[in-house]
Amino acid sequence: MLGNKKLFLFDIDGTIALGPKLFDGSHQLLSYIEKELGRAYFISNNSTKSEADYVKYFYSNFRYRTTANRFVTSGYVTLEYLKQHFRGGNLFVIGTESFKQELRQNKFTVTDSANLSVDCVLVAFDRELTYRKLENACTILANTNVPFLATNPDLRCPMTSNYIPDCGAICQILTSTIGKVPIYLGKPSRTICDICIERTNYTPEETLVIGDRLYTDIACGINAGVDTCVLYSGEATPDEVARSEYRPTYAFDNVKQLYEALKKASSQA
Ligand SMILES: [Mg+2]
Repeated sequence: MLGNKKLFLFDIDGTIALGPKLFDGSHQLLSYIEKELGRAYFISNNSTKSEADYVKYFYSNFRYRTTANRFVTSGYVTLEYLKQHFRGGNLFVIGTESFKQELRQNKFTVTDSANLSVDCVLVAFDRELTYRKLENACTILANTNVPFLATNPDLRCPMTSNYIPDCGAICQILTSTIGKVPIYLGKPSRTICDICIERTNYTPEETLVIGDRLYTDIACGINAGVDTCVLYSGEATPDEVARSEYRPTYAFDNVKQLYEALKKASSQA
């Protein structure tokens, strides 16, 4: 039931904002949740921003004050996974210099050359991608059996007036070439959702995942066994929902409509 929800896990782009512009109603909804209902968390498949970066970004662009523990990103989940499975290891990474820097700060050795003795191949969103990096990834994947990991399966990243290739599209080049499919660590893996529930004392029944993309946001909530809500302010359309295997529990045109529905539902609960 919508009226019983206390923990709200929001995707960011296409859900509460587009780029630096917050959607009408987002601020009111987030403040209402924090004041009256429970907690608003942000779950993002963007691995290029740290939690601290997001806190600054939310204040400077959205005038919304929050704290780093309210963000769980695919970058964070990836780092936790790597620490658990490859502590101090040697990683082949397709990713930005700043992403690689963060891995080095966490005591990993990072390379993008065709070194066959690496412990795994990791792909992230990379606006500094070169053909050489792809070529080297193919050499390692074709000649070894090391794990093939990726931060997130999103195919495209929304910009203000177009889309650009995201991590999932880069992985598809490698999959088309070598035939291997990565393990994706961000949404739709349930881990991101589980971390948010663990950080609060709320139950899965009290949790709602809100997003605009079916195969990441909605699938993540379904995998974690919590209710989901699609907003048609980003990628998904009612037609796509009707054809999809990922069926959200609730659907609204935008964040403002969700706000109205929540106010109504919680006054009746
Ligand atoms: Mg989105």
